[in-house]
This record gives sequence, C-alpha cells and structure tokens, in this order.
Amino acid sequence: MLEKFSLSGQVALISGGGRGIGRAIALALAEAGAEVALASRTVAEIEQVASEIEQLGRRSLAQRADVADPAQIKTLVTQVLERFGQIDILVNNAGISPVFKPMAEVTLAEWDQVLGVNLRGAFLLSQEIGRAMIRQGRGSIINIASIAGMRGVSHIGAYAVSKAGLIQLTRVLATEWAAQGIRVNAIAPGWVETAMTQPVMAQAELYQGLLATIPQKRFAAPEEIAGLAVYLASEAASFVTGQVYVADGGQTI
Ligand code: NAP
Repeated sequence: MLEKFSLSGQVALISGGGRGIGRAIALALAEAGAEVALASRTVAEIEQVASEIEQLGRRSLAQRADVADPAQIKTLVTQVLERFGQIDILVNNAGISPVFKPMAEVTLAEWDQVLGVNLRGAFLLSQEIGRAMIRQGRGSIINIASIAGMRGVSHIGAYAVSKAGLIQLTRVLATEWAAQGIRVNAIAPGWVETAMTQPVMAQAELYQGLLATIPQKRFAAPEEIAGLAVYLASEAASFVTGQVYVADGGQTI
C-alpha cells in the first residue's frame, strides 16, 4: 500500500514555493520522490528551496514568475516542460492577504489585486498546465484554499471570496477533466504560522482571541498541511477528485 503514496518519477510545480506552506509542500513532495519546480517573485527564496530539494536527491528548478501576469505564466510552463518534459502535479499555492478592512472600504484596486493573484492566477496556471496534462492523459492539481472561503468572515472579504472562488474552480475543473485522467482537489487550511500570519500573531490580544476559537489551541506548522498534498498528489487518492480537505485544528467543527 505504501508504494501508492510514492511520487517517484513525477514532476510537480508549486506556485509560491519559496516559503511557508508552499515550501513545506515542495519539500514533502520531493521527499515522496517527485522532481519539483518552484515559482514565485522572490528568486532568493525559491533558489534556497531548490537547493534543499536537490540535497534530497531530486532535480529542481527555481523560476521567477508572478502568477498575476499571463505572459509570465506561459514562460514558466514552457521552462518547466523544457526542463522536465512533463508536469504531473500542480500546486496552486501562491496567495496574498494584504487587506484588512470592512468590505465597505475595500478599493477596486485592492479587490483586483487579491482576486488577481489568488483566483485569476490559479485559473491561468491551471488552464496552461491543464492543457499539458490533457495531452499527457494524467495529472493532479491541488489548490490551496482556506477555511475563510467556506464561511462568513469579516475584514478579509476579498481574500475570502477569492478562496471560495478557488474552491468552485476546483469542482468545475474536476468535473471537466475527470475523463482525461486529471484530478483536482483543494486543501483548506485554518491558521498556519507563516509570513502571512505574522502580523496577526504579533498582536497579542488578537492572537489569543483567535487561539480561543481553535479546539487544538494553536496555529499549525506549515509541515502539518503538507501530508494532505502528498496524499492528493499520489495514486493513493486515485478515486478522489473535486473535494476540499480541511486542516484547521478543529476550528470549523
Ligand atoms: P506566505 O508565507 O506569504 O507565502 C506565500 C507564497 O506565495 C510566497 O512564496 C510568495 O512569494 C508567493 N506569492 C505571492 N504572490 C505571488 C505572485 N503574485 N506570484 C507568484 N508567487 C506569489 O503565505 P502562506 O501562509 O504560506 O500562504 C500560502 C497559501 O496558503 C496562500 O494561498 C494562502 O492564502 C494559503 N493559506 C494560508 C493560511 C495561513 O494561515 N498561513 C491559511 C489558509 C490558507 P513572493 O511574495 O516572493 O512572490
């Protein structure tokens, strides 16, 4: 059974693989046997993770790309295919949450910025790589959503809508591409200790208030999200598609 979790001989691309959840998923996929390409805007971070992956004995590629830019996505996918010849696993992890204010005050530029990375970026990358996966007749796409996309929240409205959209993108692509051997699933983390959540953790009262709402009384380490990604990428999940897997310490029970 354990060999079904092996990703040996597979090629993965992770957007936003330079730190946080994306970095943890990249290293976990490499440990499970995959060759891993990484894309983000901060080259030093993805190059560092690429060297960690190579130390695990896997090939890697660090390619600068802004997922909000369709031209950069095309170049990215071309580079990965030239280097590895195939893409079996796509993790749409790149995401931002720069706005903390009520919806009545959110500007159009802020709305477009958040949706442009979190949802449009994932759509563009999925479409570009999905075409390659359709040619291959196989593939697994994993979208990093959020529990914020599954219920009512305040002050992070554009982010929450982007993640709800990403969950529906997951279901739509899973439905359209199931017959072509492509599975599409989402992971919805709760609070995870990363650069994204540092501003929240730095505010003691806010942080303690949040911990009180989580039955496990803590934020996750990024590595605690990675196991689901290995599972969903692997043959062990061969009959699983269009689903959302929550990892939130019990917050949405
Ligand atoms: P993070 O540490 O800030 O990492 C975000 C990653 O995305 C970075 O590598 C970043 O690199 C990349 N990225 C951002 N904008 C990009 C763009 N336009 N093009 C390419 N790459 C881009 O945050 P994280 O917490 O690990 O978040 C990872 C994912 O998990 C996000 O989708 C986030 O919404 C989701 N999530 C996080 C939490 C949490 O509590 N932390 C909870 C639920 C879901 P550059 O800035 O260098 O481009």
